Amino acid sequence: MKRVLLKLSGESLMGAQSYGIDPSRLNSYAQEIKRSRDLGIQIAIVIGGGNIFRGLSGATQSGFDRVKGDQMGMLATCINSLALSSALTANGVDNVVYTAIRMEPIGEFYDKWKAIAALQAGRVVICAAGTGNPFFTTDTGSSLRAIELEADAMLKGTRVDGIYDKDPEKHPDAVRFDRISYSDVIAKDLKVMDVTATAMCMQNKMPIVVFDMDTPGNLFKLLSGENIGTRVYIDKE
Ligand code: UDP
Repeated sequence: MKRVLLKLSGESLMGAQSYGIDPSRLNSYAQEIKRSRDLGIQIAIVIGGGNIFRGLSGATQSGFDRVKGDQMGMLATCINSLALSSALTANGVDNVVYTAIRMEPIGEFYDKWKAIAALQAGRVVICAAGTGNPFFTTDTGSSLRAIELEADAMLKGTRVDGIYDKDPEKHPDAVRFDRISYSDVIAKDLKVMDVTATAMCMQNKMPIVVFDMDTPGNLFKLLSGENIGTRVYIDKE
């Protein structure tokens, strides 16, 4: 892989906390990204915002207008993106934040060609604010950016080591897949990514790898060619 889109979950950024950003988890992510970047791989990143705010929960639990709630969620992804940018800079990793919603000077307004030029110049690219639109998620934002930036794969970092037939955190007998097709992910309604994100990757033949990002060393292993996580493949493969 020469260029990847890494999706980081906002929830994982909480570490052991129940809200917000755990500085040690953030720093561990930054170090992991630095090691992987040093392999010469171009890395673009999309971070979620679930550790701060999710539009759907805001609408159902607190009565917020859904669109405003989603906009709050997108701003949460910007907060996480700035935190990661700061941690990467502190670790000596040149990086740039692009936002899907115009908000200079917090980040530059996203543009595919500017982002590709930054990747080619060896900078880590952080794509904030998801797709910029309500009713989407950062999983869809990741699929979109992976496809747009012509990445070789979308790497979805999670708390578990791959895709299971049911939630392994709730069911000890859950069975893990080494490989699974996009259509099986959709047909079996596996809650690994939302259907919109999975369908986008399927239609655009974007490979997905789901892996445990919270074990230090895993991203490096994956990018060094080790067979970890679950690979989602095109049905005809
Ligand atoms: N969001 C949105 N449009 C997007 C991406 C995100 O409206 O393109 C909002 C949505 O409210 C979502 C929140 O931002 O709940 C945080 O993103 P997400 O839930 O994907 O974060 P994660 O679960 O990965 O932490």
